[in-house]
Amino acid sequence: MAGNKTYIVEHLDEELGPWSELEYIAIAKESQQAGSKFFLSSLPPAFKVPEALAAIPAFTAENRGVEELYEGQKSRVCLLDPAGKSDLAPEDGDKFDVFLFGGILGDDPPRDRTSELRKKGFEGRRLGPVQMTTDTAVRVTRLVVEGKTPLKDIEYLDHPELKFNEHESTEMPFRYVKGEDGKPIMPAVIKFIMAGLPPRININPPL
Ligand code: SAH
Repeated sequence: MAGNKTYIVEHLDEELGPWSELEYIAIAKESQQAGSKFFLSSLPPAFKVPEALAAIPAFTAENRGVEELYEGQKSRVCLLDPAGKSDLAPEDGDKFDVFLFGGILGDDPPRDRTSELRKKGFEGRRLGPVQMTTDTAVRVTRLVVEGKTPLKDIEYLDHPELKFNEHESTEMPFRYVKGEDGKPIMPAVIKFIMAGLPPRININPPL
C-alpha cells in the first residue's frame, strides 16, 4: 500500500514560524518522493502559504479542518498521539490511509496540545515514549506504514547535541531518526536558526 497515504498536519499554532515552515517543507518533499500527499489543514483564511511549500506538488494548503475534511469517515484517520494507548504498527497501514499530526512545535515539558485533536474522536497511536518533532513523527509513521518497518527496528537519536562552534552547543529535547551519516535527520537550516534566532521552543532552563 506504499505511496497512497495522506499525511495531514492540523495547524494549531497562531502563526507559521520559520521553524515550522522548515519542518513542513521537509514533510512535503518526502511526501513528493514517496508519492503520498501532504495537507496542512485548518489554515486561517488570511494565511499566506510560503512559496517554497506551494511549489511542491504533493502539498495542499487547506482552510477546512480535518473534522470537516473527513466528516463521516473518521475511521480512515489515525491520530499520532503521544498519549495513544498502543504503538503504531505496520498493520495500521492496512487499517488507515490518513495519518493526522498536531501542527505544534514540540515543547519541553510537553503541554499535551495534541489533546485538541484527541477530543475530536480520532483513533490514536503512539510512536514510542519520546517526543518527536512533527517532521520526525511523519518520517517515522511513513517508515512504519509504508516501509512496514516495526517502530523498534528504526534507529533513533535521542536528545542530540547540536554544536554551533567550539564553545556553543545545545541539546535538542526530541527524538530524531538516525540518518545514513549517523547524524539526526532534521532540516539543515535548523542549526542556523538555533544559532541565530531565539528558539521557538520552551526549554527549561531557558537557553
Ligand atoms: N508537545 C506537543 C507535541 C508536539 S510534537 C504536545 O503538547 O502534544 C508534534 C506532533 O508530532 C504531535 O501532535 C503528534 O502528532 C506527533 N508526535 C510527536 N511525538 C510523538 C510520539 N512519541 N507519539 C505519537 N505522536 C507524536
